[in-house]
Amino acid sequence: MPPALDHLDRDGIRAWLTEDDSAALDALWRRADRVRRAHVGNEVHLRGLVEVTNYCVRECAYCGIAACAGPLPRYRMTHDEILECARQGRDFGFGTLVLQGGEDPGVTRAFMADVVRAIKQETGAAITLSLGERSDEDLRAWREAGADRYLLRFETTDLALYRRIHPSLAGTVSDRFGRLLRMREMGYEIGTGVMIGIPGQTWDTLADDIWAFRGYDIDMIGIGPYLPSPRTPLAGALGQELAAAPGEQVANDELTTLKTMALTRIVCPDTNIPSTTALSILDPSAGRANGLCRGANVIMPNLTPPEYRVLYEIYPGKAAVHETAQALADGAVSLITTLGRTVGSGPGGRRS
Ligand code: SAH
Repeated sequence: MPPALDHLDRDGIRAWLTEDDSAALDALWRRADRVRRAHVGNEVHLRGLVEVTNYCVRECAYCGIAACAGPLPRYRMTHDEILECARQGRDFGFGTLVLQGGEDPGVTRAFMADVVRAIKQETGAAITLSLGERSDEDLRAWREAGADRYLLRFETTDLALYRRIHPSLAGTVSDRFGRLLRMREMGYEIGTGVMIGIPGQTWDTLADDIWAFRGYDIDMIGIGPYLPSPRTPLAGALGQELAAAPGEQVANDELTTLKTMALTRIVCPDTNIPSTTALSILDPSAGRANGLCRGANVIMPNLTPPEYRVLYEIYPGKAAVHETAQALADGAVSLITTLGRTVGSGPGGRRS
């Protein structure tokens, strides 16, 4: 018998992660959906994603745009190009704009502060940043310019594994947990998350990760399958070295991703959880819908111009270059309607 879902603790989460009885899993899905409805309602919030730069100074071992991911054509969007995407998001009715990119010193403090101010002034949208481990001074300036939220996945609570997949920059120590706490002090809503099935991730550490979401009282939690990028170390020798023993190694499959999302919803009832692009790539026909039915309440349609989208390939197949932003937005709305849910209005923050 799997543990009762009423008072799940870390060990209960651990037991559910490897549950494979289909009647038990049906009960898990139903509970996650019920908790989602009771705490964040039937609205699905749309956040327009703009991938502002693919330059990156980091060498995260899993990421297809990391500095170590081979010679790639690199781009950085201009102020006006980003603003144009923001206007498009406003016209689509998106309450939030997410500006994401590699950790790129060429995206300077002053540049991003200007962009944030201009977007606020023109569209009034909530603004989420996801630009890596930036300095206190950068984060503060962007918060003062009007940024509302920041996304920075910690990827794993296993510190030995964390260090192997997040090499530090010279003279510093990579510390995503520390950054998240500083952002919270500055008044950002904070988002984090993990990939499911990275080599070295065990069922025990994944249970710890989910429990940490609750411990840190995270406002937004992104969970997607790990999709190996052939040009990264984690897809090659490093991945083989780090992989846990069979039976302990978490699978990078849809079922495990959905279990993690459902358990996260149950232990963090009022957080915002996207149904991620990576999940929809693993299962193009149903992944997005499955996520929304098992705990998620957010979709992030891509607004990046296709000529840049094709270069922001953090994992294979991500780019969806054949779909226009309009088609992606329409697809999200029709999915929401088909599921009997409603398109969220307003900024859709956890606290607003
Ligand atoms: N530079 C920013 C944004 C990175 S891209 C940052 O570091 O936060 C956003 C997310 O994509 C990452 O946090 C990571 O969880 C996910 N990602 C990166 N590589 C991936 C891969 N190979 N498979 C699946 N997701 C990946």
